[in-house]
Parts: sequence; C-alpha cells; structure tokens
Amino acid sequence: MVSVHGCPMVTPGMRFAGGMNVYLRDIAPAIAAAGVSVDVYTRSHKAGGPEVFEIGPNARVIHLSAGDPELVKSEVVPHLPEFRERMLEFVASEGLEYDLVHSHYWLSGSVAQSVAAEWGLPGVVSFHTLAAIKERESSETEPEQRKVAEEQMAHGADLVFAFTHDERRELNELFGIEDDRIHVAPGGVDLSLFRPTDKLQARERLGFSPTENIVLFVGRPEPFKGPDVLIRALAHMRGKANTRLVLVGGSEGEHSFDWLRLLAVEFGVADRVSWYTAVPQEQLVDFYAAADVTAVPSFHESFGLVALESMASGRPVVASNVGALSTQVLDGETGRLVAAHDPVDFAYSLDDLLGDPRLLGVMGEGAVAHARTFTWARAADQALEGYRRAAQGFAERAQVIG
Ligand code: UDP
Repeated sequence: MVSVHGCPMVTPGMRFAGGMNVYLRDIAPAIAAAGVSVDVYTRSHKAGGPEVFEIGPNARVIHLSAGDPELVKSEVVPHLPEFRERMLEFVASEGLEYDLVHSHYWLSGSVAQSVAAEWGLPGVVSFHTLAAIKERESSETEPEQRKVAEEQMAHGADLVFAFTHDERRELNELFGIEDDRIHVAPGGVDLSLFRPTDKLQARERLGFSPTENIVLFVGRPEPFKGPDVLIRALAHMRGKANTRLVLVGGSEGEHSFDWLRLLAVEFGVADRVSWYTAVPQEQLVDFYAAADVTAVPSFHESFGLVALESMASGRPVVASNVGALSTQVLDGETGRLVAAHDPVDFAYSLDDLLGDPRLLGVMGEGAVAHARTFTWARAADQALEGYRRAAQGFAERAQVIG
C-alpha cells in the first residue's frame, strides 16, 4: 500500500488525520490475518529512516523520509519523486517482491502508478475523498493539480475501490469509468472497542452531568464537517437549556476552534458547549457512551467512520443525508437523516429524539445491530476480492497485449 500522506500510526481527529488513517491501521492487519502480507509505505514524521513498524502479524508500516517531516499536505507534492526513490531503494535493499500495489488518496497516485509499472504489477486505487465532490458540496476550492491527478488515477488503475454504491455512482459520473472497473469494498469498525457500555458510568469518568442531554460531535473541526451547523442548531433547540454539545477533535490552536468559539458566543450558547482536543480511540469510547446522540452534519462523507462508531456504541446518529451517511444511517431505525445542513432541521431532529427516551433506546439497539455487520474481517475479505479481480484483469490485458 502507498499512503504518502496518511500514516496509520498518528492520532486521528486532528490536522490532516482522520478516517483514512484509521482505515489503513485496521484494514492492513485484517488483510494480513486473511493470509496476504501488507506493507504500508508512508512519509516519515521525523528525519532519517527508513523505519519499520509492525502493526500486526505480517502487517508493517514503513516510514520513508521525503521532505521536512513538518510539511503540510499541500507542500508534499515536490517531494513525491524523492519518496518514490526511497521506496524503490528500500524494496531493493530488502529484496522484497509484491503482487499488487494499492494506492491511497490522490497524493499517492503518481508514486504508486510508477512503481507498479516498474515492477509490472496490477494497481488498485482508493480516493478516500475527491476534489470534485469537495468543491461541489462546499465553497472550498481544490488545486487543479489534484483534479488532474484524480482523473489520471481513475483511468490508469486496474480497479478503483469505492466504499459504497453511492461512491461508485459518483466515480462513474465524474470520470466515466465503467462499473466493471469499480469495486465496492466498505470499511469496518472495531467492534471489540466500540460496543454499548453504561452511560452514567462513562459520564462519571468524564465528569459530565448525569441529567443533561448530551449531543456529541467527533472529528476534525473544519467547515466541511459542519460543526458550526450544530452550534447554530443548539441555539434553535427547544430543549437547549438542558442540552450540552460536546465537540471532540482538533488540536489546541487550530484556527477553526477559535472560529467556533466565537460563533458559540454570538449565538448565546457558549455555556452549553464543551470542547475537547482529539483523543485516542480508546478514550473516545467513553465520549460515545456518555452521549445520548451523535450528530454528523458533514457536507460529504465517503465512509463516515464516526457515524458507525457511534452506532456500534449503541448511540443513534443524526446526520446530513449526504454521501455514505445516506446509507450508513438508517432513517428512523438507527437515527435520523436531515435533508440539508439546515440548523433548524438539525435542531428539530435532535429535540425529537432527546425528548423521547424510549425512541432513543429503540434506535440505539437498531444502531448496534446495524453496525455489527461492518467487521474489519469482512472489509478485508471484500478488499481481497477486489485484489483478485484487479490481478485477473491485469493478467488478461497482459495476455492480449503479449
Ligand atoms: N477520531 C479519533 N479521535 C478524535 C476524533 C476522531 O480517534 O478525537 C477518529 C474517529 O474515531 C474516526 C476518525 O477519526 O475513526 C474520523 O473518521 P471519519 O470517517 O468520520 O472522518 P474523516 O476524518 O475521514 O473525514
């Protein structure tokens, strides 16, 4: 696997780390457990290297040094040729031979494509997010270079992985690639970590009130995730006097935090909002357990791990009806889907659920049953099925050319 930006070993939920890092951390050992060894190549967080880390039996992360470790995502591009060289050197020095190259996120595309060509191997691509969708769903603009790279990756890969059927449709429409070149393989959720646990005990551990209604937001506090929608929604809620919005994510000093704090003051709900910087998933467990409901007001999600983790923890989800969330959250069974990013709609759905403890309980049970189907073992099987498809297509094409 090539994941130039997106190391499986960093704490997700801050800066540029999130679902992709969790996906790599959990899918690599699951694929290895199913019998196929995995090496994940990623940019080193510190100078020197290469450094090799075991993240499970037959699953390794290999840190390669390419550019200053502190570089932000957009500054990595000029260092991609260097990353490729380091990768080729490492593989040659260890005498490694691979069967397939799986590339993650657009920044890895050129490196992965070029090493796959050099070694004569099939290549699979996972985008995780797409520039065209980000631009369409928000006011953000993405670099032209990214759009060109994504188009090239879509057409150059033997198979493109999509997390959901919705993503497959998007890939189809955006790049005109046929269904037989797209493979739907969802991610999973760690069900041994995220499972229903006692709400009051979790609240006690976190120092939360036993009687307040708690709405939880988990993720990088950036506009695309819509945390501001929740602050506005809180101001509209009938039950706001007894509701607390708990936000978990980001690191102290991140710009979006200040912006959100000001908004909370402006809307007169600052005393109803609690802020926590990103915590490791082992601690996140208590936040899900302590909450009554998790809100996911994102502008788009290609997989939506937070929604799944909350459901696995027995807490219903109120989410925007976009991307993977539209199928991940079963409206009326595991939570509510809200048509737009309208704070009033969110306020209405949250009031509705929080005002009916019986409904919350029923939806919590529905949520657990639904999330149980998303194991990492199943995700690994589906990825492996994709690898077999890619390898077969590659061999057939090679035969035709030969
Ligand atoms: N996360 C975490 N600690 C935090 C906040 C988030 O470990 O404080 C993790 C969370 O458990 C989830 C991931 O970050 O697995 C976010 O994934 P999601 O798919 O929801 O969003 P993305 O980051 O991919 O946009």
